[in-house]
Amino acid sequence: MIQGVRLVILGRQGAGKGTQCVRLSNHYVVPHISTGDMLRAAVREGTPLGVMAGEIMNAGGLVPDDIMVGIVDERLKRPDALKRGFILDGFPRTVGQAESLGGLLVPTPLDLVIDLDVPRELVLERISSRRVCRDCGANYAAARNDPSVRICDRCGGDVVQRDDDTPEAVNKRLDLYDSQTTPLINFYNAQGLLAVINGVGHPDHVLDRLVAAIDAAAERR
Ligand code: AMP
Repeated sequence: MIQGVRLVILGRQGAGKGTQCVRLSNHYVVPHISTGDMLRAAVREGTPLGVMAGEIMNAGGLVPDDIMVGIVDERLKRPDALKRGFILDGFPRTVGQAESLGGLLVPTPLDLVIDLDVPRELVLERISSRRVCRDCGANYAAARNDPSVRICDRCGGDVVQRDDDTPEAVNKRLDLYDSQTTPLINFYNAQGLLAVINGVGHPDHVLDRLVAAIDAAAERR
């Protein structure tokens, strides 16, 4: 089996990136580094970074490149990432970040950049049907166009649709994702590092496709 990998994963919200990152992280025994998770932790802890990032995140903007590159640089220098590799999720978000990442990774470049591809209509449907318990955060899938509020099986709380999961809000986020990510996809494609992987189907089958592409790339290095 391949020991350790250095990956970037791109994919629309709702493409199943979170699920697959956890599985890949277990499979290759490498840390899953999500910049969104790191920023949300900083917000919860109320650090100076968190206060600044929280405002930007709430406004739907991007945290400046130099700050993001600093955070990722520090994280990639930790022993687990140095020794085993990493799965980067949410970074890079801009071509500037991608160029800086290239500099941080000298002399051992990325093995692969994966675009986990799920058609826009499908992620829209998945996210629009997502319901969450207001009290304990448990996730549910609503039947199509089901407006009813249900009761959480786990804690008895109200199961509702998040304000930012309405079709209008999701469409806006998907537009933003496409406009941000297209230049990155072109950047990595030009370097021969990009693999587009079909993210539709059972999560086990998606994982099989990912592992096949990653193993092939790691064997070529
Ligand atoms: P995510 O969980 O990846 O969707 O990230 C949540 C939010 O954190 C984003 O909407 C941005 O405001 C911020 N963020 C996460 N990663 C980055 C990044 N690489 N560059 C700039 N902002 C980021």
